[in-house]
Amino acid sequence: MKTIQAYRFALDLTPGQQRDVYAHVGASRVAHNWALARVKAVMEQRRAERSYGVPDDLLTPSLSWSLAGLRKAWNAVKPDVAPWWAEVSKEAFNTGLDALARGLSNWADSRRGVRAGRPVGFPRFKSRRRTTPSVRFTTGAIRVEPDRMHVVLPRLGRLKLHESARKLARRLEAGTARIMSATVRRDGARWHVSFTVEVERAGRAPARPDAVVGVDLGIKHLAVLSTGELVDNPRHLAAAQTRLRALGRSLSRKTGPDRRTGRRPSKRWERASARLGRAHARVANLRRDGLHKLSTRLTREYGTVVVEDLNVAGMLANRRLARHICDAGFAEIRRQLAYKTGWNGGRLLNADRWYPSSKTCSGCGAVKAKLALSEREYLCQACGLVLDRDRNASLNLAALAAQFDTAGSGPVAARGADRKTRVRGQEAVKREPGNAIAGQTGTVLPQHRAIDRVPTKAH
Ligand SMILES: [Zn+2]
Repeated sequence: MKTIQAYRFALDLTPGQQRDVYAHVGASRVAHNWALARVKAVMEQRRAERSYGVPDDLLTPSLSWSLAGLRKAWNAVKPDVAPWWAEVSKEAFNTGLDALARGLSNWADSRRGVRAGRPVGFPRFKSRRRTTPSVRFTTGAIRVEPDRMHVVLPRLGRLKLHESARKLARRLEAGTARIMSATVRRDGARWHVSFTVEVERAGRAPARPDAVVGVDLGIKHLAVLSTGELVDNPRHLAAAQTRLRALGRSLSRKTGPDRRTGRRPSKRWERASARLGRAHARVANLRRDGLHKLSTRLTREYGTVVVEDLNVAGMLANRRLARHICDAGFAEIRRQLAYKTGWNGGRLLNADRWYPSSKTCSGCGAVKAKLALSEREYLCQACGLVLDRDRNASLNLAALAAQFDTAGSGPVAARGADRKTRVRGQEAVKREPGNAIAGQTGTVLPQHRAIDRVPTKAH
């Protein structure tokens, strides 16, 4: 099974190496901004000419928006625009032009309505202050040194790693991996190199192929499993967040930069800002670590994992819930479960967004009309069952897997049937995005139709 995977390692760059990377980042930005200005100028020119009644075949020729087209245009002008061009790798310019080509095509697709998701704006100029420094190498000498503590990249040369690259090196030595590109990037206060690698993965089977686990992603706990297990949020996360707030307050009391008056930030502000950046990075690391550990454990053990297809974008519009949901990384863990079930030979089932997993009684199947978020205990009026709210939801999710299997006809047939309900539900999202929490809005669906198979990424 061939998959594309990323391997990311922290770097220890010397000040000289950092300067070299910044030179490449700057070069990437120059190429990006030059090409964007050219694209805009040509668009303006053609628009003006059209308004004068110039026939289409006499208009200023349009500029190709493909990477190859942009690169050709850039190579023609680089001696004039960037006389220092030979000092950096051509991959630096390629990074900037590639970002622009993607941005333009995303914008065009979004405008034509062939791109899913929220509308994409027209590409904007990159600024030195606001853009995350990053440069990507796709050709040339990219390798991990035999000591596994250094990597070699074109132009930048031999860079020291902060951690061992043994996991990638082992695969490279065994011939089951091929590096396709390497990106050097500053995340927070630290530099990382991220390799995009084509990996030949051995097929695996989950430890318990027939076992099913329902996962209710929570706010208080990271997850509640249908086995009754409560998965806690990563340790130290709450402490790190308290520190984050304190650092944010501290920063706001110091003299920051002001663009209007041109005021420069104070040294104390800069130090506080760096501290805050590091604290943010730590929170993100703790969270990512917790999510990865959970998703790996679940996909290695259970043949079937059932989660709720929460409308994360809709939930984030609800500000009171937003921070907690961001923290828990709902969307991220479902993404991880999707590809990891693929790696481990399991499957991920997604309960429909409108399936009332919280409101259904896991004992008798009765569905409540209302269940406030504050009700932490599920109390069934029909059979008298009393159970933790999240535990009840996870049991319902696990039970869905059995219904999916006995229904047998698969998701395609099931889908057509509930089309009408679906559309009504989506209208509800548009009216009040903040309230579109699964199990709280929408119509109750017949259970065997409330399930859908997720296409896993890796095959
Ligand atoms: Zn009941």
